[in-house]
Amino acid sequence: MGDEEKFDAVVVGAGPAGTAAAITMAKAGLQVALLERGPKPGSKNVMGGILYNHYLEEIVGEEWKQAPLERPIIEERRWLMTSEAAIGLDYKARFDAWFAEQAEKAGAMVVPETVVERLIVKNGRVVGVGTGRGDDLYAEVTIVCEGIGLGAGLLESTVINGKPLRRKLRPDEVAMAVKEIMQLDSGLIEERFNCERGEGCTVECFGDSTMGMAGFMFIYTNRDTLSVGGGALLSDFNRTLRTPNDLMEHFKQHPAVKPLLRGAETVEYLAHLIPEGGYRGIPNVSGPGYLVCGDAAMLSNPVHREGSNLAMESGRLAGETVVHAKEVGDFSERRLAEYRGRLDHSWIMADMKKYDKAVPLLEHNPQLLTKYPSVADRALDEFFRVDGTSKWDKQKKIFKMLRQEGLFKMGWDTFKAVWAMK
Ligand SMILES: Cc1cc2nc3c(=O)[nH]c(=O)nc-3n(C[C@H](O)[C@H](O)[C@H](O)COP(=O)(O)OP(=O)(O)OC[C@H]3O[C@@H](n4cnc5c(N)ncnc54)[C@H](O)[C@@H]3O)c2cc1C
Repeated sequence: MGDEEKFDAVVVGAGPAGTAAAITMAKAGLQVALLERGPKPGSKNVMGGILYNHYLEEIVGEEWKQAPLERPIIEERRWLMTSEAAIGLDYKARFDAWFAEQAEKAGAMVVPETVVERLIVKNGRVVGVGTGRGDDLYAEVTIVCEGIGLGAGLLESTVINGKPLRRKLRPDEVAMAVKEIMQLDSGLIEERFNCERGEGCTVECFGDSTMGMAGFMFIYTNRDTLSVGGGALLSDFNRTLRTPNDLMEHFKQHPAVKPLLRGAETVEYLAHLIPEGGYRGIPNVSGPGYLVCGDAAMLSNPVHREGSNLAMESGRLAGETVVHAKEVGDFSERRLAEYRGRLDHSWIMADMKKYDKAVPLLEHNPQLLTKYPSVADRALDEFFRVDGTSKWDKQKKIFKMLRQEGLFKMGWDTFKAVWAMK
């Protein structure tokens, strides 16, 4: 990479967002560099994960069928857990690597093992990036798709007109997610999860599974591994003094989960942050010389545990914005702001607005995840237990129990929760 090289666009980060942006622009014939700090794209990816192929198809067309996906998910199960009962594709690194190959095929220059150390700002405009290799790369537009990490990223550390490109995130705006990959014979996976050969399912657990913190735990079936993980808001970890490791161990020991994992061996352990700031947490997604996509732009939908779809779609829209800017020969801040308009008219912002209140509601009402599932479990247990009591007496007993627990408040809280997530 020479000092004088100037690209139409430099993309920072070869996750789903950056790669989608690079493919979109390279397909339109633009000069694009896609820089990734990992030894290969995806090596830093921690996703669970479920991917909806629709968005992938929009970017790479029929090629999506060649993606190294794991089992097709035929069933999504949700468990509301109490401490004793459960009422009730992993694609990780290999996908990102395949996806980045599609960017290369489309004509983008993909450069792994390259840390972008800073955004270069000249006269109040981002004009390129400085890399750990000592090279400076210049571009009409820099697309920041760095995800979110524990330390200050490029957006927080770059200042234009006295203001950082993104303010420091609060602990109640990010979840700490952990994931273990556990090796298990594929036949055992099918037997234990009641799946046909080659098919898979997802199990998502709420309630006691997160020890009263706002979040959820999951098990996803892969070919011969399970992805077991979950997460909770950083503010909840701070408040409860629990660690992500406590959360994992608690979940793995749950009587409904333990038999599913018996004999499975942990081969990988990963931790990562997930943005949960909602619509109001979205920073400026465009500015002079730059655009921001995916997790870095806080685009994620915790209710539907979607992040990569929003990342790919926002990357595609950012790519299209730059293609248009190139067509009209105008890379001004105003022209780049078209990206925000494209986002506003997409399903992304519709979803971000819809679930804006969901995370704060769970954070401020921990009883929804702890006390209420337990009360519901006791009520159901009482109702279905055959013990010689008449059903009328059982109903009276349940009603009395619910009244003691605060029936009106329970009903109101539940209504608010359903309303926030509907
Ligand atoms: C445990 C877990 C489970 C998840 N499950 C799901 C799921 O089931 N479905 C779903 O849709 N989403 C899921 N997600 C969310 C999903 O992984 C993210 O939303 C998605 O990966 C965001 O894509 P991105 O491209 O914005 O960022 P990332 O995937 O984080 O990619 C950012 C890339 O930038 C690189 N980078 C960062 N800084 C630099 C730098 N300075 N220089 C060069 N390169 C840099 C990183 O190495 C990385 O490759 C899950 C996340 C976690 C943590």
